Amino acid sequence: MKTIEDLDVAGRRVFVRADLNVPLSNGSITDDGRIRAVAPTIAKLLQAGAKVIVASHLGRPKGEPDPQFSLAPVAVRLGEILGVPVAFATDTVGESAKATVAALADGEVTLLENLRFNAGETAKDDAERGAFADALAGLADLYVGDGFGAVHRKHASVYDLPARLPHAVGDLIATEVGVLKRLTEEVERPYVVVLGGSKVSDKVGVIDNLLGKADRILVGGGMVFTFLAAQGHGVGSSLLQEDQIPVVKEYLKRAEETGVEFVLPVDIAVSGSFPDVKAGAPVEDFQVVDADKIPDGVLGLDIGPKSGELFAAKLADARTVFWNGPAGVFEHPAFAPGTRAIAQALLDSDAFTVVGGGDSAAAVRILGFDETKFGHISTGGGASLEYLEGKTLPGLAALEG
Ligand code: ADP
Ligand code: MG
Repeated sequence: MKTIEDLDVAGRRVFVRADLNVPLSNGSITDDGRIRAVAPTIAKLLQAGAKVIVASHLGRPKGEPDPQFSLAPVAVRLGEILGVPVAFATDTVGESAKATVAALADGEVTLLENLRFNAGETAKDDAERGAFADALAGLADLYVGDGFGAVHRKHASVYDLPARLPHAVGDLIATEVGVLKRLTEEVERPYVVVLGGSKVSDKVGVIDNLLGKADRILVGGGMVFTFLAAQGHGVGSSLLQEDQIPVVKEYLKRAEETGVEFVLPVDIAVSGSFPDVKAGAPVEDFQVVDADKIPDGVLGLDIGPKSGELFAAKLADARTVFWNGPAGVFEHPAFAPGTRAIAQALLDSDAFTVVGGGDSAAAVRILGFDETKFGHISTGGGASLEYLEGKTLPGLAALEG
């Protein structure tokens, strides 16, 4: 792969595919980690005299403009971090984008509006994606791929566009891949993997691969309930993926055969309804129940305190840890303790610790931990999981050659 140093960027229009998909609440950015992570790449290009065009997706708009997913607040924050004005284009390949790009002087930067406001970005149809990539290619001379959180997506700006322009890998992706290589080649043992979060089906796949690599797998978050159901327990109204139960049963069996230790929570914090995260009001019917005795009608929203201690004990002697997915709905203080316990256990261990995932990384910072104390905080959850699964990532493949 070529790096930025291999490109002659001075005076050229350089398209930087970043991942600026940050969490927003009422239009303000609650965690700017992803913006800070890619800022050095942009700064380096500006320093070298490039005209920089930054592009990203934000959330999941339906292929048309949707103000709640506008990147406008991100342009402001990016400007603050870079210490230079960031011109904002109110479309992706339309009049505004063309005009802002045309107005760029050497060493100036613009951010395009959300790429997913155009249906071509995520289209399954190669021709539709290709047409959007052609239009994006018309804006630039060179391409730098640095949106690690999106490299597992076969999207126009990630996969099709680099084929149309001379390209290089950005410094953020280079760092991310370097760390993940360390987790797939010689890992120091015990190697403990902690999984949680909400996208159960996305994450169940990685277990298949980890069963041959990790020594211990700790399960929290929404995934827990599919495991508990596979063991024959009731899970109330908790997040459950019934179609994954046979798969999970098979994993549990294989883990036993291969000596991989699965650690499931022994207690669960529950409530009758999903908490109001925005208001953060106290949860009246909060209770902690045994994991094998979740009553009907309640939702499991965090691992309980005993499980937090159990997980901490299982992390204490680790030499390598990969963590993806919060242990609970940490956005509400009542359901943050499980995630906090895991973060603290990572810091207390002597392990090389890797935290992957947009929400996991945000959780660490929002809960007040010092991110520099972790070995590496990855900007990509799905991307890092798929890398660890051994899959070919379209956005990395596109940067080869
Ligand atoms: P990441 O972005 O780190 O890969 P995910 O996107 O998979 O993580 O999941 C993060 C979300 O999972 C958080 O917003 C959190 O509220 C949610 N979550 C965690 N535990 C549960 C649970 N038991 N039920 C529902 N949602 C949960
Ligand atoms: Mg997420």
